[in-house]
Amino acid sequence: MGHRNCRSARASKIKNWRAWLGQTANTPPEGITAEVLVVRSFEELNKPEVSAAAKGKIVVINFNFERYGRSVKYRSQGPVEAAKHGALAVLIKSVTPFSMYTLHTGYLKYRKDVKKIPALSITVEDANMLQRYQDKGKKIVIKLQVDSQHLPDETSRNLVAEIKGSEKEQKIVVVSGHLDSWDVGVGAMDDGGGSFISWYSMVLLKSLGLRARRTLRVILWTAEEPGFIGAQAYDKAHKNDLDDFTFVMESDEGTFNPLGIEYTTGKKGGCILKEIVGLLEPINATQTQYSESVGSDIAMWAKKIPIAGLLNENQKYFWYHHSVADSLDILDSDTLDKATAVWASVAYVVADLKEEFPRDFDDISKLPINKLIEKLRQSGQNH
Ligand SMILES: [Zn+2]
Repeated sequence: MGHRNCRSARASKIKNWRAWLGQTANTPPEGITAEVLVVRSFEELNKPEVSAAAKGKIVVINFNFERYGRSVKYRSQGPVEAAKHGALAVLIKSVTPFSMYTLHTGYLKYRKDVKKIPALSITVEDANMLQRYQDKGKKIVIKLQVDSQHLPDETSRNLVAEIKGSEKEQKIVVVSGHLDSWDVGVGAMDDGGGSFISWYSMVLLKSLGLRARRTLRVILWTAEEPGFIGAQAYDKAHKNDLDDFTFVMESDEGTFNPLGIEYTTGKKGGCILKEIVGLLEPINATQTQYSESVGSDIAMWAKKIPIAGLLNENQKYFWYHHSVADSLDILDSDTLDKATAVWASVAYVVADLKEEFPRDFDDISKLPINKLIEKLRQSGQNH
């Protein structure tokens, strides 16, 4: 990946932009110079007159951000949708509720049967500006040059460590986060924070000399952002012993002030978690919340293994997500300590339960698991 330029050829008021997205196709070396068509949604793009107008243009998708899970389709599916209507390239508004001219990158998905066109993200501000130009009836022409490189895949590994259980060593409780991040920013929040609290939960329990009945395992997943590659390899390697995984946790939605635990388990499991987080009253992290999609790497196990994530005050998560602003400044040392306390406490108590944590998935969404994974993939919940 590299940084790309797009430059307005005829509207001199528009400055140079930087823009990027993972896995984008390239332009020819001389670039593409074409007129711009701004649309607000796929529905608009599908209207016959708009579809006809999109042919041969650089399509700009200036959607209204609702919430990440709903809006991210414009990034992940926008290149295919624009190409279907004959667009030469697509510029997609960054998927964020708040912008200070920050670019947000992320996963996009091409399809074998649809032409791969160059796809870049642009800032919220630039997308809105292009919309205003179009609304005023101005003709906008952009010259776009994209020269990204897709380097050959290399081997990388999940990082695994554990404290063996005292009674039921083969039974496992997992705490996890993912090690990789996008090329922009340093990935401190996504997912340095989740990796930190998972690793330090183990350090904390070890330093306290606590050993649970079951084995506690930390997994730092590799290659989550390009599509859960480390987690899928792990799933494949463990397909015959998934029954031994009692409970799996992943923190990949921020390590801001912790409120408790979100989970995807049946009602009985939810009740047990409610009891457990009751222990965390001194740090006011006693909430539990059922969620249909917890974590990112672990979401594929939603109907096989009880899973959980960190419930935290993450309203600003997508301000920084996949942008150069994902820096260490977002993380706060005392808050990370509190999040580690929640993480370690829940993992330890579940691992030390006398009874096995209920594997009761009756109340969980009836979505077939492959559909659920596909939904997550499309929604780009590769945080
Ligand atoms: Zn992430």
